[in-house]
Amino acid sequence: MTYIIAEPCINTKDTACVEVCPVDCIHPTREEPNFDEEELLYIDPDECIDCGACEPVCPPNAIFPEDELPEEWEDFIERNAAYYQ
Ligand code: SF4
Ligand code: SF4
Repeated sequence: MTYIIAEPCINTKDTACVEVCPVDCIHPTREEPNFDEEELLYIDPDECIDCGACEPVCPPNAIFPEDELPEEWEDFIERNAAYYQ
């Protein structure tokens, strides 16, 4: 399992999740050169340890455990994973 960042992150991108992730698996961070290019942040499904720390700190509630992701945002599973391929 992994956590997924979905549509509400778009236009928010405040990086609150990056600050709390204990394994630094959310990118791009503000320090990375492509931060402005990406419309949202992504969770690396191979590195996420399912700790849940990011979910409650996200202002627009954009982060979900994969099995609780609303159906209309299911394509974000692939979008998160694709960023790391
Ligand atoms: S669930 Fe934990 S490990 Fe996974 S992205 Fe969120 S803070 Fe990072
Ligand atoms: S906390 Fe939520 S809105 Fe902010 S960058 Fe992370 S996923 Fe996006």
